[in-house]
Amino acid sequence: MLLSFDPDSLNLPAGHFVGGAYLRAEGVLPMHRPSDGKAFGACPVASAELVDQAVVTAKVALRESGWATCPPRQRTKILHRWADLIETEAVTLARLEAFCSTRPVGELIDGDIAATAEQIRFFAEFADKEGSELVPTGAASLGMVMSEPYGVVGAITPWNVPLSMAGWKLGPALAAGNAVVIKPSEMTPYSTLLMAELAERAGLPSGLINVVLGDGPTTGAAITGHPDIAKVSFTGSTGAGAAILANIAATGIKPMTLELGGKSPQLVFADADLDRAINAVASSILSNAGQACVAGSRLIVEERVADQVIAGILARMEAARAAPTWDETSRYSPIISERQRQRIGQVVRAAIAAGAECLTGGSEMDHPGYFYQPTLLAGVEQASPAVQDEIFGPVLTVQTFREEDEALALADHPTYGLAAGLFTRDLSRALRCTHALQAGTIWVNRYGRSRDHILPTGGYKRSGIGKDLGREAYLANRKTKSVLIAL
Ligand code: ADP
Repeated sequence: MLLSFDPDSLNLPAGHFVGGAYLRAEGVLPMHRPSDGKAFGACPVASAELVDQAVVTAKVALRESGWATCPPRQRTKILHRWADLIETEAVTLARLEAFCSTRPVGELIDGDIAATAEQIRFFAEFADKEGSELVPTGAASLGMVMSEPYGVVGAITPWNVPLSMAGWKLGPALAAGNAVVIKPSEMTPYSTLLMAELAERAGLPSGLINVVLGDGPTTGAAITGHPDIAKVSFTGSTGAGAAILANIAATGIKPMTLELGGKSPQLVFADADLDRAINAVASSILSNAGQACVAGSRLIVEERVADQVIAGILARMEAARAAPTWDETSRYSPIISERQRQRIGQVVRAAIAAGAECLTGGSEMDHPGYFYQPTLLAGVEQASPAVQDEIFGPVLTVQTFREEDEALALADHPTYGLAAGLFTRDLSRALRCTHALQAGTIWVNRYGRSRDHILPTGGYKRSGIGKDLGREAYLANRKTKSVLIAL
C-alpha cells in the first residue's frame, strides 16, 4: 500500500483529550515539521486547572467504571481489542506519527506500531495472572501481600518515539487497573491523541486515558505535583528527570519511574563476527538519526580490527540520504528541531577543535529539513564532551583498545548506565564483560531492543530509576499492602 502522504492535507487531532472528548484550546508553542522546517501550528499548554480537571475526570471514571475492581479478564479483553484497533488503524497512526516527529513513515507499521500492539497484549495478559499472595506465617495467623492499583498515574513522554512511549506507559498502567493522565511532548502530540481515541473505540471507559498537551514547566509540573496523581512515569532527558524529582520532593513524595539519558558503549572484540558488529553499530547510531536514549554512540573496538570495522560503518553512514518522513522510502531521520541540530553541530565542532578527526559527516545536510550528516569522530579523548555527553544525534565516537581491561575502562561512564553492546564469539569473555559493564541492558552480538517484551528496560546510575517493559513495569503500576490476620 502507498504510505507516502502529503503533509499539508493531513487531518490533525485538535486539543486536549479529556473524558473522551476533545477540548479545543488556543495554540501557544510554535510547532515545526522537522522534515521540511515548515511552521504549521502551535501546541496548547494545559494549565494547572486543566490538569486538575483531567485528574478529577480520571478519578470519577475509575470509580464509575469499576476498572480496578472488575473481573481482571475484562481489562485484558478491552486491551486486546485496543491492540487490534491499533493494527487496523496503523496507516492513520503512522502518518500522524511521521507528520511532525522524526520517525519515517515506512518504518512505523512493521516497527513501532506492531511492537506497541504486541506490548499492549503482553501487558493485558498480566491483569488476570499477577495478584496478591499468601505468605508463610505461623499457624495462628494468615499473612498476605495484597496487590492494588495506584489510582491515577501520571505519564510524561518524549518526542523521539512518541507512539512507542505512549504504549510503554499506557499498556502496563491500564492493565494494572489504573487511569492515566498523559502528557506527550509538545513537539509530537498527535499519535498519543489518536491512541487514546482508539482505546475508547475499543471499549475502554471514557476518562481512563486523558491526554493533556503542554510543556514541561507548566503542564508537566502540574502533573508531577498533583496531589491525586499517585505515581509518575517519565521518559526523557536526565535534566528533565532531575527537575521532576525536585518537583516531587517539593510537592509531596510519590513513587516514580524515570527512564533517562545514556551514552552507551559498543565493545567490538577482534574475534567477533565483524559484519554483524558493523551492521549493529551502524544501525544503532543511524536509526532515528541517533535520537534514542539507548543509541550506541561510543564504539570501542579492538585495535587490530579497527580499520575494517570503521570502513564498514563509514560505508553505511555515507549511504544515508535525507528524505522527509512522509516519503515511504525514507530511512534516515531529520533532527527534531533546528535548536537541537545547532547543539549537535556545536559538540562536533568543539570535538574537532580539541583534536578529534572527523572521518565522515560533521555538518548539516543540504536539505530544507533539519538533517545532520552521520558523523564519525576518531582520536577523541575520554574526557571530551563528544565521549561524555549525550548528543542525541547521529554522532559516533570511536576509541581503540588492546586489552579487555582497557576496553572495560573506556566503556565505563561516570554517570550514565543505560545500555551497552558487546561483540565477541568468546562466551566466557561475553559473560565476564556482561558482569563488569554497569548498565541496565547488555546486548551481546546484537544491539537494540527486541520483541522480547519480558525484558525490562531501564538505567543504572543516573540513567534512571525503575524499569519500563517486562513484568517489572506491570508491578511498578501496582502497590502492595501487607495484611496479617490473627486467627
Ligand atoms: P526532550 O527534549 O528529549 O524531549 P525532555 O526531557 O526535555 O527532553 O522532554 C521529555 C518530556 O518531558 C516532554 O514531554 C517535556 O515536555 C517534559 N518535561 C520537560 N521538563 C519537564 C519538567 N520540568 N517537568 C515535567 N515534564 C517535563
